[in-house]
Amino acid sequence: MENRITQLFKIKHPMVQAGMVWNSGWRLASAVSNAGGLGLLGAGSMYPEVLREHIQKCNAATDRPFGVNVPLLYPDIEQHMEIIVQEKVPIVFTSAGNPKTWTAFLKKHGIITAHVVSSTKFALKAAEAGVDAVVAEGFEAGGHNGRDETTTMVLLPSVRKHLKLPLIAAGGISSGKAMLAAMILGADGVQVGSRFVASEEASSHRAFKDKVVVAKEGDTHLTLKELTPVRLLKNTFYEQVQQAYARGADREGLKALLGRGRAKKGMFLGDMEEGELEIGQVAALIDRVQAAADIVREIMTEFEAAKKSVATL
Ligand code: NDP
Repeated sequence: MENRITQLFKIKHPMVQAGMVWNSGWRLASAVSNAGGLGLLGAGSMYPEVLREHIQKCNAATDRPFGVNVPLLYPDIEQHMEIIVQEKVPIVFTSAGNPKTWTAFLKKHGIITAHVVSSTKFALKAAEAGVDAVVAEGFEAGGHNGRDETTTMVLLPSVRKHLKLPLIAAGGISSGKAMLAAMILGADGVQVGSRFVASEEASSHRAFKDKVVVAKEGDTHLTLKELTPVRLLKNTFYEQVQQAYARGADREGLKALLGRGRAKKGMFLGDMEEGELEIGQVAALIDRVQAAADIVREIMTEFEAAKKSVATL
């Protein structure tokens, strides 16, 4: 199908693979781009030279467009941006920060820019900053998220009502039916995260992928709002966070408990108890690890079938 998202990114399907820390390396991003979606590298868990290596490997593995997700709260942003320009990455998604900081720089270098938001207010701020597209990510999403707990179902029509730019829906989308629902609510395309964690090509530890596959409804929670709100799978670390809350821990106490490298410990090194496991609610609907190309194909096939079945309602 063709629409303003496929035209903007020069891709076949209006589907973006989220640039997730510890999950989205060159293997996943190139596989999704080769399958006709838009693959994103997750720069947040890469040292600058690691990011350069992933960009170069991704370039060698696909001749289709791919991009980089840069979470603005992580360190080394300046170096990441410099490398992105040097390596001529055509597309950048920024998240977790103020879109005003980097959009003008990226646009000056001819880079197509999208920014991830969790509210209508931030969507308008992103538009004002000059982005080409907005990703509206609802409360269901994994990892860092907004404080207001606005669901994708409510966020999308609200953002659509006020925003003229191309809109990408995120949070709770793992199937073609969900994709169609998002597009009916006003999105021009979707961003899929959790389902691509359960892919052969995701760079995360196999134990994490298997954990996502067995996760059930109610197994995730958006917590640590005093620091950066994050949706996690419940495990020993999560229980420690709950105990800290029960003791009345303040921001500093929570920060000390989180420590350094929790996300790496869990998602990358495979410590399912002490690590931080970031995933969306939709993990409850994911039942196997698949090749990324099969995920793209299945979602698009289901999307086309769902479009037809809507007419019979
Ligand atoms: P941390 O700051 O806890 O640790 C950095 C981790 O990222 C290490 O594992 C490190 O690997 C790796 N890394 C990759 N690239 C870089 C880089 N350029 N500079 C430094 N470290 C790098 O990282 P997190 O990903 O866990 O968190 C990032 C930010 O998000 C922090 O500001 C953290 O406070 C915040 N955060 C907040 C959470 C919350 O509030 N719930 C949850 C998670 C994160 P290595 O060990 O090999 O050096």
